[in-house]
Order: sequence, then structure tokens, then C-alpha cells
Amino acid sequence: LTVGVVRETSPNERRVAITPQNVALLLKKGFDRVVIEKGAGELAQFPDQQYESAGATLVSKDMVLKESDILLKVRAPSLEDGGEIEKMKEGATLISFLYATQNPELVKKLAEKNINAFAMDWIPRITRAQVFDALSSMANIAGYKAVLEASNHFGRFLTGQTTAAGKVPPCKMLVIGAGVAGLSAIATARRMGAIVRGFDTRPVVREQVQSLGADFIEVEIEEEGSGGGGYAKEMSKEFIEAEMKLFMEQCKEVDIVITTALIPGKPAPKLITEEMVAAMKPGSVVVDLAAEMGGNCAVTKPGELTRYKDVTIIGYTDLPSRLPTQSSTLYSNNVTKFLLSISTEEKQFGINLEDEVVRGAIVTHQGEALPRAAPPAPP
Ligand code: NAD
Repeated sequence: LTVGVVRETSPNERRVAITPQNVALLLKKGFDRVVIEKGAGELAQFPDQQYESAGATLVSKDMVLKESDILLKVRAPSLEDGGEIEKMKEGATLISFLYATQNPELVKKLAEKNINAFAMDWIPRITRAQVFDALSSMANIAGYKAVLEASNHFGRFLTGQTTAAGKVPPCKMLVIGAGVAGLSAIATARRMGAIVRGFDTRPVVREQVQSLGADFIEVEIEEEGSGGGGYAKEMSKEFIEAEMKLFMEQCKEVDIVITTALIPGKPAPKLITEEMVAAMKPGSVVVDLAAEMGGNCAVTKPGELTRYKDVTIIGYTDLPSRLPTQSSTLYSNNVTKFLLSISTEEKQFGINLEDEVVRGAIVTHQGEALPRAAPPAPP
């Protein structure tokens, strides 16, 4: 069987789906060939020579698409310029982020071409599948990078210092939403010496926030924010009003706000108003990690860095790609381990729909679009 990887074509996408190290692993595990488009790893600092040394064959993009039985990608195949799907082998397998619900045209094309497509964003979030969980790997990187971006645009240290030239107070930071990205932002900011406060609608995360050395701030209303499977649910109007009142007070006091609040399948809740941004001190920074889902902050422009009065608002939607070597390494590990888990012990590749993870992630199979499997029951 031939595994193939092409260079990503989305604007500003620097990641590559496989690292040279995982090329060597796939060959060792019995795949016949790994074909890589020339220059595929260049922007992630994986030069062609490293792939060659690992045993890959470097070819043109058309050759990769034509010869691969299994194609690994980061972003969904493009539908433009005749499209990557058109050039793929009939009956081939694709593993990539797909966001199938938002891309019905893509799903139709994949089914028509008889591609067996797996969405890395549909991997069920169960314990056994944690090693394949690319959403968590990327969220971890986004949280880390959000703090670095904020500090780059903040005019002071994050840590407090006593120097001969004067005493420097530590930066104060508020992190809204303590899922994977929020916890990563909290951990990073703490390591850099900031005073951090975390907020989430799910009280179960209090201990995690506190164990990272941050304060967990709360509203007085009691309402359970956990929905099925440990995920967040939409909160009542009263709760949202109460948390926004708290955020208004915090905005006057903190220097950096990082927002990560999301509810699966819904637009991001608007939690930081124009008025709150205007109340922040000059030089403050807001990083809105929910920008792609519409943003938690009313003045965020998705994909852009903007200024509102004296505050910098960062709405980048490609934070993992801004740390391309790290994100490619972790994504490649997720995707390779997933591929190896589908392959049977006899080194044969077989799709077993009885397997909960396979069924959870599959989007199209044998020419048909499959309905999304029900999410796993809450633990
Ligand atoms: P996410 O990115 O979907 O959401 C981010 C956070 O925003 C969540 O913590 C949510 O509670 C919070 N939020 C939503 N509305 C809010 C509001 N109005 N105000 C403040 N905060 C709000 O979350 P995620 O990183 O995908 O993680 C969600 C849960 O899934 C976590 O408990 C995580 O540990 C769990 N998880 C489990 C696995 C696994 O077991 N394999 C893998 C990944 C995540």
C-alpha cells in the first residue's frame, strides 16, 4: 500500500501532515511506499532530504494524488482548479480535518469519487482515542501561542521584577474558558510569571485551573455548565449577564484577556463587549481564540490583528500553523497512530465499522456519505 502526502494549499497554511520520523515508522510497520510532494514540509522546517533519508519517494503533486492508496492531509482537499479529489485514485482513503457538516459539497465529491474519508475533527473524544485527538493537540498549541502573541504586543514583561532601574509589577491576565486551549494558555502565562485568573461555566475545571497556579473566579448564580460528554452547554441569559458583569470589572483591572469559550456546534458566545474593551487600560491586549466561530469579543475581526481605541485585538484563526514545526509533529503523530490503529496486525488495511473510533471519524464509505455517529455517552 502507498501512503501519500501533498503540500498544503490553503493560504498561510504552513503545516504538513507527516514528519520524516513517521515516514520511517510507516515503512517499518509494513506500508510499501510513502510518496511525498516535493517541498511539502518546507514551511514546517522539514526539508525534502529528511524525507528521502527516512525512505520516502519525492514526486510531483499529481503523482502523489494518482498513486496514493491512503492520502494524509491537514486541511480538507481543495475543490478549486479541477480539485485534488478529482485526481485521487478511486476507492482511496483520505485522513484529514474535514469539517464535514460545514462542507456538504466536499462530502458529495468524496462520495462520488468513492473515497473513504476520515475526519480528524470527528475522532470521538474517548480515552482510547486520546492519542489520535488532533483537535486537542492543536488547541494546546493555540493556547500556548495565544500567550506569546499577546506578550509580543504587550509593552511590558509578563513577570514582575525588582531591578536596579525600578520595580516592575507582574502582568494580570484573564482567561475565559478552561478547555484544552484555555488551560494551555493559563499554564503558559503562569510559567512566564503573569498573575492569571480563569473562568469557565463548568465548575469541574476549578481544580485544574487552581492546580496551574491561577485563581478560579466565579459568579454567584449556580448553574451547571456541563452538557453531554463533558462538553459545555448553552447557559441561561441570567448566567451570561452575570458573567459579563464580572468580565466588565475584570477588564478594568487586567492587562491581557484571552477568550476561548465555545459550545460544540454553536456560534461562539459574545462575552466581551465594545464597552468592556474601551474600559481596558491603554496598551492592553485581547486574544480571541473563538474568532473562527464568530468570536467571543464584539470587536474581533476573524483572521486579523486590529486596534480598538488603545487596545490590540488579535483574531488570528491560524495559531497552530504559526508554530508549524510543533503542530506538524503532533498532528503527524495523531494521524499516523490513527492510521496504524485502522491497519490490522497482518499489515492489511481494513475499515472496520464496528470499531467505535473508526465509525466515529468516518464521513464517506464505499461511495456513500454516512450519518455522523452519535457522540460517546458522558463518562
Ligand atoms: P472547547 O474548545 O469546546 O470549549 C472551551 C471552553 O469554553 C470549555 O471549557 C467550555 O466549558 C467553555 N465555555 C463555554 N461557554 C462558556 C461561557 N459562556 N463562559 C465561559 N466559558 C465557556 O473545549 P475543549 O477544549 O474541546 O474541552 C471540552 C471538554 O472536553 C473538557 O472537559 C476536556 O477535558 C474534554 N476533552 C476530553 C477528551 C478525551 O477524553 N479524549 C479530549 C479532549 C477534551
